[in-house]
Amino acid sequence: MLKESYQLLINGQHCDSNTGETFVTYNPATGEPLAKIASASKEDVDRAVAAARAALETGKWSRYPASRRGQILNRIAQIMRERFDKLVELEVLNSGKALSAAKGQVMQAIEDFEFYAGATTTLSGETIPVPNGFFNYTLREPVGVCAQIIPWNYPMMMAAWKIAPALAAGCTVVLKPASLTPITALVLGDICLEAGVPEGVVNVITGSGATIGSYLAQHPGVDKVAFTGETTTGKDIMRRASETLKRVTLELGGKSPNIVFDDADLDAAVDGSLFGIFYNTGQSCEARSRLFVHERIYSQFVERFVEKAKKLRVGDPFDPNTHVGAVISAKQEEVIDGYVKLGLQEGATLLYGGKRPEGEAFSKGHWYMPTILADVTNDMRVAQEEIFGPVVVIIKFSDEKDVIRQANDTIYGLAAAIWTKDFAKAHRVAAAVKAGIVMLNSPFSAFPGLPFGGYKQSGYGRELALETLNLYTETKSVLSYIGEKPLNPFGV
Ligand code: NAD
Ligand code: MN
Repeated sequence: MLKESYQLLINGQHCDSNTGETFVTYNPATGEPLAKIASASKEDVDRAVAAARAALETGKWSRYPASRRGQILNRIAQIMRERFDKLVELEVLNSGKALSAAKGQVMQAIEDFEFYAGATTTLSGETIPVPNGFFNYTLREPVGVCAQIIPWNYPMMMAAWKIAPALAAGCTVVLKPASLTPITALVLGDICLEAGVPEGVVNVITGSGATIGSYLAQHPGVDKVAFTGETTTGKDIMRRASETLKRVTLELGGKSPNIVFDDADLDAAVDGSLFGIFYNTGQSCEARSRLFVHERIYSQFVERFVEKAKKLRVGDPFDPNTHVGAVISAKQEEVIDGYVKLGLQEGATLLYGGKRPEGEAFSKGHWYMPTILADVTNDMRVAQEEIFGPVVVIIKFSDEKDVIRQANDTIYGLAAAIWTKDFAKAHRVAAAVKAGIVMLNSPFSAFPGLPFGGYKQSGYGRELALETLNLYTETKSVLSYIGEKPLNPFGV
């Protein structure tokens, strides 16, 4: 299924960039080149936006009965199910993530299409009571042409989170995947076509974020930008989109707290905290990267946590026993190592990791060991800045109010995990943390149907849920006068 080269998908046609330019995408686990990818120019972006605009204006997608749109979304999911192993393979090759993680994410992408397939038929307006002689109804119309820009950490899942609700709402799409991981998004574009999404409704363009991503974010032909990525990129996108007041939704970075109280089930808390940070090689927006541990169980917890971290198998992403796969790029490996060194300078103690794993298996590609920094305080840069790698910082706490204060003392507000057997405390803390997603004694944060998104500088808007459809529609209020006598409000 891996091709030597991939083209742009514009108006249902595969094409090279009009400049003929390409770039190479790599396998992060080996550093070897995987495929040549078309590098879109601004003219290609113009063409893709024009195709999406034309497809929108003809209404060839939005005017399908909702149930038919739902059927086609289900068909996309069905094709993905049939090609599950191939899609997982492509995802692992291009991202270096562990097979087990890729499987879960491709499955979630499928379930996301299935969720929105059902949701299409729930879209409807209201009839709102108005004064005598008047009649009102509301319509939910597609917001229009959507530019969707996604990151490299969950390539297939992010593409699904973007495309599925947009299609459910009747919108048309220009999707731009990250240059590090473009393959599965391009394949998904083809699957949409094959499933019966009309030409021009889903366009996929690949190329530099700084050039064509930013151009897309300010393109006058785009009505809405849905972006997932770094907070700094999100701010740039918002500025650009403001020129024509586009609708903007942003899913950005995080530095999520993971709070272990002294009455927690210790085994569950250790295992869940381990998964919370080292899943996906720590390259998750919702990574629970600040681990707050109550002083009464601190030494016991930390000892077990380190012991279990040592059991995590780092290595060949295709080995089904691997827990922690490769790091996405040499640059990211450098960033991670830089943060670990910074943490040590700031006074942290290294309990495990702190380097590339050793041995022949790691002579190529990009790697970093699961890394645990203790004796950290919440004001250190390693506790405040998103590292986006397998690095957790441990902070000791003694008091509920104080840990809530520290948990909220961050520019981010994406997720928070709480470990306790005291349900009143669990709900009290859940209410007090400023985060869009709260996990109580749960290692998992997202299922299709549950709103996913952040407070503060983690972004705004929620994905993955029914309410997401509000962000892909405009509400039109239609007011009519139905009285018998004509109205003459000026009385002239
Ligand atoms: P990034 O911001 O570097 O890039 C994301 C996308 O934006 C890429 O497609 C890139 O090409 C493009 N881009 C880059 N500069 C641009 C610009 N000026 N204008 C328009 N587009 C531009 O993010 P990344 O490094 O790919 O991903 C990691 C980040 O994503 C982390 O901060 C992580 O927390 C975040 N993330 C958030 C969520 C969430 O749901 N909140 C989910 C996954 C990842
Ligand atoms: Mn980046």
